[in-house]
Amino acid sequence: MTGFHKLSRDEKIKKIKALSGLDESDMKSLEGPLDASVAEMMSENVIGTVKLPFGIAVNFVINGRKYLIPMCIEEPSVVAAASNAAKLALPCGFRAECSQPVMIGQVQLVGISDTNKARESILSGISTIKKLANGRDSVMVKLGGGLEDVEVRLIGSSRGPMVVVHLIVNVVDAMGANCVNSMCEAVAPYLEEVTGGRAVLKIISNLADRRLAAAAAVWKKDVIGEDVIEGILDAYELARVDAYRCATNNKGIMNGVDAVAIATGNDFRALEAGAHAYAAIGRYRPLAEYEKNSEGDLVGRLKMPLAVGIVGGATKTNPVARTSLKILGVKSASELACVMACVGLANNFAALRAIVSEGIQRGHMKLHAKNIAMSAGASHEEAVSVSTKMIEDKKISVSHAKKILEEMRK
Ligand code: NAD
Repeated sequence: MTGFHKLSRDEKIKKIKALSGLDESDMKSLEGPLDASVAEMMSENVIGTVKLPFGIAVNFVINGRKYLIPMCIEEPSVVAAASNAAKLALPCGFRAECSQPVMIGQVQLVGISDTNKARESILSGISTIKKLANGRDSVMVKLGGGLEDVEVRLIGSSRGPMVVVHLIVNVVDAMGANCVNSMCEAVAPYLEEVTGGRAVLKIISNLADRRLAAAAAVWKKDVIGEDVIEGILDAYELARVDAYRCATNNKGIMNGVDAVAIATGNDFRALEAGAHAYAAIGRYRPLAEYEKNSEGDLVGRLKMPLAVGIVGGATKTNPVARTSLKILGVKSASELACVMACVGLANNFAALRAIVSEGIQRGHMKLHAKNIAMSAGASHEEAVSVSTKMIEDKKISVSHAKKILEEMRK
């Protein structure tokens, strides 16, 4: 995919269409806005839809397979950064793996005096709990999923002791929130009956720490340079010990993860909640880590919860999400999670590399220049010339864009 970014939009579309086998309806999903009738099925009080740029990150080789990665994001330089980081990791690319697609549903029981006895009663009724929960989702059970286990936690609180039951559910290719919530509601009356308590919350936990995706890549010192490696290790160390830096570091990871989530119709709020809660276990820390291997090359590794689906939610309702999944060619939710972990790692590496070498603003502002030109009042046509002139002048600001625009219009 060398030089993909230099192609015209039509050439890019032609290439992706051919490589991904997109048909006319896929192409239509990328062109116009979301159909109002579809939008009304998805949300309430709908009066319009938001349009976002839909780009393709290239050069990704993951577990030996080539991927084209759809990313929906308004922030300049994220797609370019991911593609560039992936290119620098070639020819090996990324390794990725994922644990089982297991989510946790919580049922909170209050008003129980003997919580130890309640725990025993719950654990001795696991087969009934399984029957009740799995009875809610025969489709998922047929596909090999469903309730796998039950755990009981006893939690002391200012409002008295609580018994919190965790339903451990294999959600196969779904994100899983709706089906896990239904299972929690299905088992709550039984849990009340055997414990004498009152079920308050019956809902999924977004801290999906049983559903982790891991990605790794090596960036060779001959390719990125020893100074950059040392700089990245210094920058990583600051993120490891300082929450102010770490928040921005993890935001860079979520730039990539969220962009793929939005393109594929996945719940990016759930991913954000899960990622930051996971990063904050113990002490808030970076989701990716870096070290030098024995050859002096940079090894990056990322591990994070990635509760994403290729069925359910908006993945089938939103035509763009269907097209994205076709472009990705992923066969399971776990494969999608692996891809997203690699994109997160790529974006993290790219941001660190830029920060420790030329600084993040040079590349970012070049790509942002057209946005600035338009903020200064330039039309689409004028924005290209105004941004080119700002880059030439090495002065990218709204005031300078206004000055150029004034002169151009004279
Ligand atoms: P869903 O209920 O739309 O679809 C899941 C269902 O699809 C399963 O229950 C199963 O019956 C069926 N299915 C068919 N093929 C399947 C396969 N191969 N693997 C698994 N299931 C298969 O979606 P969901 O994934 O249960 O819920 C996701 C939605 O829930 C998202 O839109 C999310 O925004 C929303 N949500 C999130 C939260 C939260 O994160 N806290 C809370 C409530 C709702």
